[in-house]
Amino acid sequence: MFHISIIESIHPKALEYIDQHPEFSYEVIEDIDEKNLQTKLKDTDAIAIVTSKLSAKILENCKKLKIVSRHGVGFDNVDLDTLNKKNIPLTITIKANALTVAEHVFAMMFYFNKNLYAFDKSVRENKWDKLKKIDNNIIAINSELYNKSIFIIGFGRIGKELSIRCQAFKMDILIFDPFVNDEDVAKYKVKKINNIDEGLSIADYVSVHVPLTNETQNLININNLKKMKSNAFIINTSRGGIINETDLNFVLKEKIIAGAGLDVLSDEPPKSDNPLIKNPKVIFSPHIASHTKECWERHGKETVQNIFDFFDKSLDKKAIVNRAKIEL
Ligand code: NAD
Repeated sequence: MFHISIIESIHPKALEYIDQHPEFSYEVIEDIDEKNLQTKLKDTDAIAIVTSKLSAKILENCKKLKIVSRHGVGFDNVDLDTLNKKNIPLTITIKANALTVAEHVFAMMFYFNKNLYAFDKSVRENKWDKLKKIDNNIIAINSELYNKSIFIIGFGRIGKELSIRCQAFKMDILIFDPFVNDEDVAKYKVKKINNIDEGLSIADYVSVHVPLTNETQNLININNLKKMKSNAFIINTSRGGIINETDLNFVLKEKIIAGAGLDVLSDEPPKSDNPLIKNPKVIFSPHIASHTKECWERHGKETVQNIFDFFDKSLDKKAIVNRAKIEL
């Protein structure tokens, strides 16, 4: 019998899934205080963790721990050095959320090109023609995704799911990712661009899907934002800090670009003096691009599945973050 400690809550269906496996027991731990976790996790075989912190102190104290399964793809809340030292794998849920984030990008693109909020307001305010006519002349403010170009920066799991959906809308898809192989470029029918400025200067929509690293911090800044078209939009569902926020605010205010969709910010929640907050050309969401009912359930089940697969010796090695650092 192996014991799984679940820190914070996961989807009830994932708990039911453990119940169907009598060789596993579990406990949900809601008190995430470091001292409590040090005591509670001492004899556990596996940890399933959402966003709370698994410090070196806690992990050093785990005497029987064999796997940590993170619910999600980011893992900066877990002290990886200690896990490496103890030869313990850390898994992430690589299948659960890519399509969900890709859909969120579409929600933001539609926000910009279909103007539903503005049209809704015009109907409610009894101004039926407000956005349809100027001086009795018909105008059209909406536009289509059909035939538009999208520049996807970072062609990993989310970038690929996004490209599949963009194909369905018959968009031109350009990508920038120095690590992508030619097979994937052909498989997903995208055009690889080797120079970020070139993609930014062509695209109607730019969508960012790289991890935040020293290399990607401020990857998008005033120098390359200035290359974008004045009717283009940029969307970031990746991590705050990849787009320089001061520079973004500047290009929006100066009408150098048309709008920005931001699910992520360098400070979350943002400070009240963040100038982007007052900028009407930005649409925000509070880091929820992957928070759907369906995705939450998938994450929970995959978190648990990774633990089952580990003990069953059938774990997909791609799900192990520190596979290069430990002996498997
Ligand atoms: P992934 O690891 O599958 O893909 C990242 C891609 O970025 C890889 O293909 C990699 O080669 C590429 N890359 C790395 N450095 C690059 C660089 N300097 N220039 C261009 N490309 C580079 O990750 P993913 O699952 O697609 O997720 C992407 C990011 O989205 C994650 O790092 C995470 O921070 C973020 N994310 C956000 C949410 C949310 O709720 N908003 C949810 C999931 C993931």
